[in-house]
Amino acid sequence: MAYTIEGSDGAWEVVVGLEVHAQVISNAKLFSGAPTAFGAAPNSQVSFVDAAFPGMLPVVNAACVAQAVRTGLGLNAHINLVSRFDRKNYFYADLPSGYQISQFEHPIVGTGAIEVELADGSTKTIGITRLHLEQDAGKLIHDQHPSKTLIDLNRSGVALMEIVSEPDIRSPEEAGAYVRKLRSILRYLGTCDGNMEEGSMRADVNVSVRRAGEAYRTRCEIKNVNSIRFVMQAVEAEAIRQVEVWESGGTVVQETRLFDSGRGITRPMRSKEDAQDYRYFPDPDLLPLVLDEDWVASLKAALPELPDARRTRFIQSYGLTLYDAGVLVAEKATADFFEKVCRGRDAKAAANWIAGDFFAAMNRQGRSIEDPPVTADALGGLLDLIADNTINGRIAKDVFEAMVATGKSAAAIVDEQGLRQVTDTGAIDIAVTRVLAANAANVALYQAGNTKLFGFFVGQAMKAMAGKGNPALINETLKRRLAEPRE
Ligand code: MN
Repeated sequence: MAYTIEGSDGAWEVVVGLEVHAQVISNAKLFSGAPTAFGAAPNSQVSFVDAAFPGMLPVVNAACVAQAVRTGLGLNAHINLVSRFDRKNYFYADLPSGYQISQFEHPIVGTGAIEVELADGSTKTIGITRLHLEQDAGKLIHDQHPSKTLIDLNRSGVALMEIVSEPDIRSPEEAGAYVRKLRSILRYLGTCDGNMEEGSMRADVNVSVRRAGEAYRTRCEIKNVNSIRFVMQAVEAEAIRQVEVWESGGTVVQETRLFDSGRGITRPMRSKEDAQDYRYFPDPDLLPLVLDEDWVASLKAALPELPDARRTRFIQSYGLTLYDAGVLVAEKATADFFEKVCRGRDAKAAANWIAGDFFAAMNRQGRSIEDPPVTADALGGLLDLIADNTINGRIAKDVFEAMVATGKSAAAIVDEQGLRQVTDTGAIDIAVTRVLAANAANVALYQAGNTKLFGFFVGQAMKAMAGKGNPALINETLKRRLAEPRE
């Protein structure tokens, strides 16, 4: 069902377009050779170009251009073989040159599309309007001195890709799914690390509301939202605010706003500039960017497998469900982990363990797939013990928890704690005999037709064997014994 905001006077549709700034993975900046490592001492990664010293000339970094082209290809987008750098003029203390080198009329990447997955199992195509290359600005630091603002120019000149979506997004969920999918594609491509908390990916969220069937109304832009959860919250909060404005007889004014995550509201930042306020013009220091068609083709041929293709492969070659495959491919590191665990093993079992107990332990311990609670090899070792009937599935859960707690291998824990599965039919028969004798009333009920009691007997027999009985043999023995006439 379509997402709407219920006003006092009927439903409102929400229209969202996103502009995502993604920091390019590159050793050097877009127009200088200065390094880009995160967390370096302030102003230790600044060339004269980045500090805008007079007479310095920018030189475009081919590695950054290649990353933008690869990203465009990953977004199924048109690559413009001729693009151009423009100056976007504005005055702000974090921008020493007084202009940002960006791309305005002729971006390097044109229209494309990505598919996002929604919670109800449906998918939706979100259009990409464009991707352009531009420089980042420096960072102002207001809390180091009582009366002065300090500036760190390490970020100044770092390459960004601004990825603009079509206004195809219609709900907070779709906005979140879009950013998640975009981040996943960038990480698979290795063109942006997607670390929103470090600021290497941030979203400007354009929101408007309208009655069904209407033309678009005025939108507001919520700047620099730095987590997927906040993107979703900002869409909802801003849509509710605009509905209230329209329904109270007011008019939504085009402006730039900020999302206050503490209070869950958006508030005004500045009135929105239009393009003409920036007095864009072609940067006279840079030639138009002309790409060789063969070079673009070679980048395309060398693209890695992307999440959609990997999901299809997981379904086809491992027999996973669409849902399980989607969960596993969302993060490249998780998909790699899965493929390591399932090599030579039952892929469905591997998927179930990763999506179940493994993720639960990882979340509980606040760890990540890069720093997992058990390694892929160790989890594989546990699966081997289940596959060769050394332990049953019930005991395996306890063994897994012990592995998480101690870091020991599954085999070591099974040996130490004597958890080997009992497949001795004599021992199983003795346990079953004991259970049936102790529960004569239930046996009578079962034999009178209450077959639902079977699970009760299985539970009792497993308990009698301290959880170590072979479930298939217990079932078999119980069925046989319960079918015998009462003594
Ligand atoms: Mn921008």
